[in-house]
Amino acid sequence: RPALDVEAIRAQFPILTTPTDDQPLIYLDSAASTQQPECVIDAVADYHRGHHANIHRGAYRLSRTATRMYEAARERVARFLNAADPVECLFTRGTTESINLVAATWGRANLQPGDEILISTLEHHSNIVPWQMVAATTGACLRVIPIDDAGDLDLDAYRRLLSPRTRLVAVNQVSNALGTINPVGEITAEAHAVGALVLIDGAQWVAHGPTDVQALDADFYVFSGHKLYGPTGIGVLYGKRRLLESMPPYQGGGDMIERVTFEHTTYAGLPNRFEAGTPHISGAVGLAAAIDWVESIGLEAIGAHEQALLHQATGRLAQIPGLTIKGTARHKSGVVSWVMNDPPIATLDIGTALDLRGICIRTGHHCCQPLMDRLDVTSTARASFGVYNRPDEVEALAEALSEIRASASRQRHASGASQVTL
Ligand code: PMP
Repeated sequence: RPALDVEAIRAQFPILTTPTDDQPLIYLDSAASTQQPECVIDAVADYHRGHHANIHRGAYRLSRTATRMYEAARERVARFLNAADPVECLFTRGTTESINLVAATWGRANLQPGDEILISTLEHHSNIVPWQMVAATTGACLRVIPIDDAGDLDLDAYRRLLSPRTRLVAVNQVSNALGTINPVGEITAEAHAVGALVLIDGAQWVAHGPTDVQALDADFYVFSGHKLYGPTGIGVLYGKRRLLESMPPYQGGGDMIERVTFEHTTYAGLPNRFEAGTPHISGAVGLAAAIDWVESIGLEAIGAHEQALLHQATGRLAQIPGLTIKGTARHKSGVVSWVMNDPPIATLDIGTALDLRGICIRTGHHCCQPLMDRLDVTSTARASFGVYNRPDEVEALAEALSEIRASASRQRHASGASQVTL
């Protein structure tokens, strides 16, 4: 397999090539948001410069062009996911809104007291809270698939939790906090065997490997543009056509109707029924450009590149005394989470000390407080890799962490304090 030309890739990212500080930017936070290549920035700017108008129903050519670009973006997303039909791909604000849409429409229409929604310990708050909200209004209850100490789902426990009461299984394909890659195909097949539907949160997967919603047999699949080298404020909800057609609308308003009178409204068909109001047109255009870009490089190649960085980072961080990696699943994406306990250094202090060296990582609970509780920590420091990262950046991270630890040790010896403030 030909290796990626990382330098040629980096040259396409203005933020990496025009440093605003006096030191180069070492960006290790792609799991939060990826940076955008020039072609995505240009696609959005070109749209605004030459093609912008509100879509649908415009009597003029400019509006028809904007409509065509927006609908072409939907077709691009459908090919990216291998959806059977573009109308199965709805534009949303992102993963969070996609999950809330399913919970609010499918959930409220279908859940009853005694029904169960199955999520996992690895979920992001956006795949927990919407289900708690719909459980509270419908009387359904939430059950949780446990994990083992490595951060892998306990699949035996999952099988025991599945029952005819299970109506929906909602799990992520990759954990944002630990990087665990979950066997979502297997999880889906087993859920279907008891008659449950499956929602897959692909936020942390789509930029790291190919996705085929039909091969997965996913009922719903969701992701965000800003983790796929695209703009913020745009995301996707894929749903099987017959399911989406059976669901009541989400928001009411313009564009989602067929006929409105004060007495009664009939709703539009797919996809408009779920896209009330003026959508993020330029976001959809930018997302399509981002998909073209990642596919021109190849998702297999991107994934392999990140695996090499993950391997290197895991090896280097494991050598640092007093540092513990959280999440050691066998199948992981390019995410490393850790804590430093000897001497104890608060994760926010780690992040701040790295920032002084131009290294961007994320610290905190990663919107996964129940997972943090399970791991018996309040937060972790997390580095995550994208297509533009290089081995020397991983090395810089490891060097910096060694220095931070050495300076914390010196400080502790000098002051005798139990917690070190860097
Ligand atoms: N799920 C996972 C696994 C995530 O990593 C994220 C973003 N951190 C989300 C959901 C929420 O995505 P967004 O903020 O784009 O809606």
